[in-house]
Amino acid sequence: MGAVSLKGVSKSFGAVDVIKDVSIEIDEGEFCVLIGPSGSGKSTLLRIIAGLETIDEGDILIGARDVTDLEAKERDIAMVFQSYALYPQMTVRENMSFALRLKRRPKEEIRQKIDRVAEMLGLEALLDRLPKELSGGQRQRVAMGRAIVRDPAVFLFDEPLSNLDAKLRNQVRGEIRELHKRIGTTSVYVTHDQVEAMTMGQKIVVLRDGRVEQTGTPLDLYDQPDSVFVAGFIGSPA
Ligand code: ADP
Ligand code: MG
Repeated sequence: MGAVSLKGVSKSFGAVDVIKDVSIEIDEGEFCVLIGPSGSGKSTLLRIIAGLETIDEGDILIGARDVTDLEAKERDIAMVFQSYALYPQMTVRENMSFALRLKRRPKEEIRQKIDRVAEMLGLEALLDRLPKELSGGQRQRVAMGRAIVRDPAVFLFDEPLSNLDAKLRNQVRGEIRELHKRIGTTSVYVTHDQVEAMTMGQKIVVLRDGRVEQTGTPLDLYDQPDSVFVAGFIGSPA
């Protein structure tokens, strides 16, 4: 159900073409990394998939469903941003259950679900705390928990680790990988960090100036870069 397919997607802001005829096929359950320099269109593409930006041309499919004209809330997608705005006045449990309460799920079902996801993320002991009582890494885990409890067809991550220090980044990166192994939700993960891309991506899409420069497995890109740009970008030290 969760395959993502972009076909000939283009988007301009005013006179500026930002996304140019982009086609990407992401298999169900695949962890796909979008990488490219700053300004290459990564966040815009993610927002397009999420339904937060309209497009000028092309089609977007999630599973068999054409979602091109659907609003964000109809797309069954959850997004984890770098600035993980948690509700400051709500506890961890309340933050994580908010979407389910809006959907009026039964209380007991919500409680069990939050307990299960909290255990998965090592947040069991923190459920009654407020965001200000958490470390940066813990907050990032709550942001992920909030996305997971919704059981979306697709997860989108926009540089989720960029506010964390190097040590924590490694740790949370490992946690995201473990999580994907465990629940296998189709994921699109944006980064400009080639180490992150090479270690996390099952498929990597290299963006350059709003176009797809190359798509492949980490090994494909490393062994057979199509261009000097890809070779330089993937091969360069972080
Ligand atoms: P990245 O995430 O790869 O750094 P972005 O998708 O944020 O790149 O931006 C791609 C290009 O689109 C940039 O040139 C940026 O200035 C432009 N852009 C992004 N959002 C808007 C907007 N709302 N209005 C005008 N230009 C935008
Ligand atoms: Mg960005």
